[in-house]
Amino acid sequence: MTAFDELYQEIILDHSRSPRGAADLSRLPDSLVVENPTCGDSIKLEVELDAGGTISALRFDAKGCAISTASASLLFEGLVGMRSAEAREHAESFIAALRGDLPLDTLDEMGDIVALKGVAAYPQRVKCATLAWHAFLGALERAEAR
Ligand code: ZN
Repeated sequence: MTAFDELYQEIILDHSRSPRGAADLSRLPDSLVVENPTCGDSIKLEVELDAGGTISALRFDAKGCAISTASASLLFEGLVGMRSAEAREHAESFIAALRGDLPLDTLDEMGDIVALKGVAAYPQRVKCATLAWHAFLGALERAEAR
């Protein structure tokens, strides 16, 4: 294992143990739950935009494996404070890069999110890592429609 791999593993472990942005969202309807049945991960995610279209708050309620929880936490850290259009682009690029539709190096520009780079080698885990990002895109759309 290289020093980078170890650093990345440490970041993922840290975020899965103490996820940033985790909240109880039981007040939201279960129809908003996004699931990854192959692993048993599920997540509810809520986005708030301020009047200028910047993400002012983001909360998620995640159940599942370490990768899915860490990914939601990294998403929270990376996207709060971003303008909605930029955040959408970020999320779409993240999903495309992990799926192999964009160069994996795209993640190098995304701060600690780069820690999830290694997941691309494991197609089953890609679904774990992208779950929160799909949930985010749905939540952003709902926030913009309000
Ligand atoms: Zn999983």
